[in-house]
Amino acid sequence: MSDDTIFHKIIRREIPATIVYEDEYLIAFRDIAPQAPVHVLFVPKVAVPTLNDLQPSQAEVLGRLAIAAADYAKREGFAEDGYRIVMNCNGDAGQTVFQIHLHLLAGAPLGRFGT
Ligand code: 5GP
Repeated sequence: MSDDTIFHKIIRREIPATIVYEDEYLIAFRDIAPQAPVHVLFVPKVAVPTLNDLQPSQAEVLGRLAIAAADYAKREGFAEDGYRIVMNCNGDAGQTVFQIHLHLLAGAPLGRFGT
């Protein structure tokens, strides 16, 4: 079921998470295995397994995630220092949870990405 990922369980409060932001469209919570001093996941409430499944009519889904991430960075005071947002799609990118999400990484100089 596309709405039965671990992130949907967090949205439904069936499993715990450290939630840092929520509105009617999305939720944001700390990654359980942080890869940087700040590592927050921004997840839409509408079920979309991968970026490949996002429809043109759903373009605002990505926009809302990005704006929520930037707002969080401003609120937490590291927007000017900098941060990275990442979305993994399918196996070669290492996607492990099949509900689209933005990773927000910050809090220290980040290494370059790639292989
Ligand atoms: P992906 O690899 O799909 O882009 O990212 C999935 C992320 O979800 C990983 O960084 C992983 O650590 C995180 N994650 C997996 N399970 C849980 C969980 O139960 N709670 C939280 N907070 N994060 C999780």
